[in-house]
Amino acid sequence: MTTTILSPTPSRPAIRQLDAALAAKVAAGEVVERPASVVKELLENAIDAGATRVRVEIEGGGQVLIRVQDDGCGIPAAEVETAFRRHATSKLAGFDDLFRVRTLGFRGEALPSIAAVAEVKLATCVEGAPHGVVVGAHGATVTRAAPRGLPTGTTVTVRDLFAAVPARLKFLKSRSGEVAAVQGVVAHYAMAYPALRLSLYSDGRPVFTSAGTGALADVVGALYGATVAARMLAIGGEHRDIAVWGLVSPPDVSRPSRAYQSFFVNGRWVRNRMLAVALEEAYRTHLMVGRHPVAVVHLTLPPELVDVNVHPTKSEIKFLYDREVFAAVRAAAAAAVLATMPAPGKTLMGIDGPGGAGADGVNGTTGGMMEARQGALDLGAEGAGQAPLTPRGDGDHGGGPAPRERADMVPVLRVLGQVNSLYIIAEGPDGVYMVDQHAAHERVLFDDLVARSRGGDVEAQFLLEPLAVELSAAQFDVLETGEGAADLAPLGFAVEPFGTAACLMRAVPAILAAGDPVDALRELLEGRATRGESADWRERSLATIACKSAVKAGQPLALEEMRQLVYRLENTTRPRTCPHGRPTMILLSASQLEREFGRRG
Ligand code: ADP
Ligand code: MG
Repeated sequence: MTTTILSPTPSRPAIRQLDAALAAKVAAGEVVERPASVVKELLENAIDAGATRVRVEIEGGGQVLIRVQDDGCGIPAAEVETAFRRHATSKLAGFDDLFRVRTLGFRGEALPSIAAVAEVKLATCVEGAPHGVVVGAHGATVTRAAPRGLPTGTTVTVRDLFAAVPARLKFLKSRSGEVAAVQGVVAHYAMAYPALRLSLYSDGRPVFTSAGTGALADVVGALYGATVAARMLAIGGEHRDIAVWGLVSPPDVSRPSRAYQSFFVNGRWVRNRMLAVALEEAYRTHLMVGRHPVAVVHLTLPPELVDVNVHPTKSEIKFLYDREVFAAVRAAAAAAVLATMPAPGKTLMGIDGPGGAGADGVNGTTGGMMEARQGALDLGAEGAGQAPLTPRGDGDHGGGPAPRERADMVPVLRVLGQVNSLYIIAEGPDGVYMVDQHAAHERVLFDDLVARSRGGDVEAQFLLEPLAVELSAAQFDVLETGEGAADLAPLGFAVEPFGTAACLMRAVPAILAAGDPVDALRELLEGRATRGESADWRERSLATIACKSAVKAGQPLALEEMRQLVYRLENTTRPRTCPHGRPTMILLSASQLEREFGRRG
């Protein structure tokens, strides 16, 4: 009887000590979640070892093999076996060091954790040693270090990740999903260390290489493309002990997600929402809801002001002075964003004095306008000259987008000329209008696309030869695993997956044929990956197609083309903003002009 009282649940197993191998596997779960986490730990070790070149190879999404090769300082032969013991590290000596961490690693957990769930081989040699050593580790066993002739540096090879932990395997994404995650890690370390020559190979194919020039813009170019890199604005600033530097996009370069924002604190890639909020504060009112700037932001601050020991993978951190950090990031970004905003009335009028920013860019009737190429502008399917004769009245929206506000309308404008192959200058009853030709064209095409997609599919144009387009792993995933191809068809794209990292494009939206269909496709897939199939995604996709089809800045336009464009713009639903919410035009009012010229008190 007493037994029943003492143990109300007779089936409850007794408390016992886990054996070493099992305990290691449990602990490994914190550090090693997926192939990308192994790559992260090994990369951090290479960087801590002072490497200047690191080569990362994966096979089968990293599950078959991960190899990270560095030219760092290596591990002395006598210490190699110790490196695989839990809590064995060369980076932390005493407790106080924990609050002054200058290395990426310090917990001494990565190597033992990886060995607990995979087969590891480590080959290493220190500078000047007669030879290096090779050691194997699997589960709780570490083989004796064997001498081997090796170059200075360390190579760690990890095979059959999670082969003995089937439960973990089940949580892995598709192979391309894991490759994408590894790519993300490598990309971020490239941004964190622009001087590092970092390369990634997947199943023998080169996926990414950073040149290691030391210039952050070069890394951004390799990752996001030269066009974006060329537009990025350098930021820099110091606030108390906090230094901020990096690159941010101007407001007109934005993305549908925060996936293109990266933050680094003392060389460590961190995820911290507060930093993203601080950055985006600088763009307030300049970005449409749901759009996000591209940014690579580095913070350097005394290590004792950051707690990096709040998460096993060290990707989350705490700042001692949150508010100062917030202010520093916002101020640095805001300065860059503000510098892109022309003070209305100043630049154009050249009030800054001779040689002012705007004055030298004005094309008068004898300038660039005369050399303007004919027919640069495709005004969409209605075609130049066939625009509706009567502007759409208030009662005549035909189920179009929400009725526009009175204040949104623009009067009939008289085109005067073009400035900088970018702005159309026009005169209205209330002053001088500067129209951004790209934004204006975008609005015209977008309205046209929305109307057409309501009546059915967007008109497609088939290509004579299908075009192979390289895709990122996330983009490819949408096509391969999702209904991506089916969702793109109504937008005029005919695409199918091709190989493991590309697609074949057989048709493009007709309107886009002369524009940039490749870029548009990538952005559409990207949006589809982050947003799923939604009405919101479709509308954004139309905006993307309009953007990639629209006349670019830098394109000289003939007077007649500008007239047609402005005329079509006047008759859109929202002539004052482009589909991304940026203004299409700025008005320099008659009264403002009078004031500036001192004609009125
Ligand atoms: P931690 O990085 O937290 O110290 P790890 O388990 O990742 O712990 O590594 C243990 C130790 O092995 C490190 O402290 C370092 O001395 C050594 N080590 C690991 N990888 C390398 C490498 N690529 N080059 C040089 N030393 C390394
Ligand atoms: Mg480490």
